[in-house]
Amino acid sequence: MKFVVRIDPDSIKKNPDAGRTSFFVAGMIHNNPDGSMSREVQQMHQMTPDPNYTCEVLGCDVVCDECGKIFPHEELEERRYGGGWDDEWYDVNVCPYCEEVECCELEYEQFNDVTGEVISNE
Ligand SMILES: [Zn+2]
Repeated sequence: MKFVVRIDPDSIKKNPDAGRTSFFVAGMIHNNPDGSMSREVQQMHQMTPDPNYTCEVLGCDVVCDECGKIFPHEELEERRYGGGWDDEWYDVNVCPYCEEVECCELEYEQFNDVTGEVISNE
């Protein structure tokens, strides 16, 4: 069965870090020759800029195709398989009760990162 994890429309807000591609983290503390101490700051880079909007998703209940258990989608275990001969990696969800792989189909609602509007597939 297929389930849609919906976005809470009231939770969509402008991301204060929109477009950010790097951020700073505190690094090691150094003892300076003059007796003072200073903390190294490291700049970290990320491949994709931070989105313009952030949002929270509304939980939804899913039903396992195999054992028929009904449980909130957050309980699905996410596992990553791959790295074989083709070095392809893919994420699968696993039923927390019967360990069935891809026990239900999950689709996440998307939103337009320019306007902040939810894109509905229906
Ligand atoms: Zn199951």
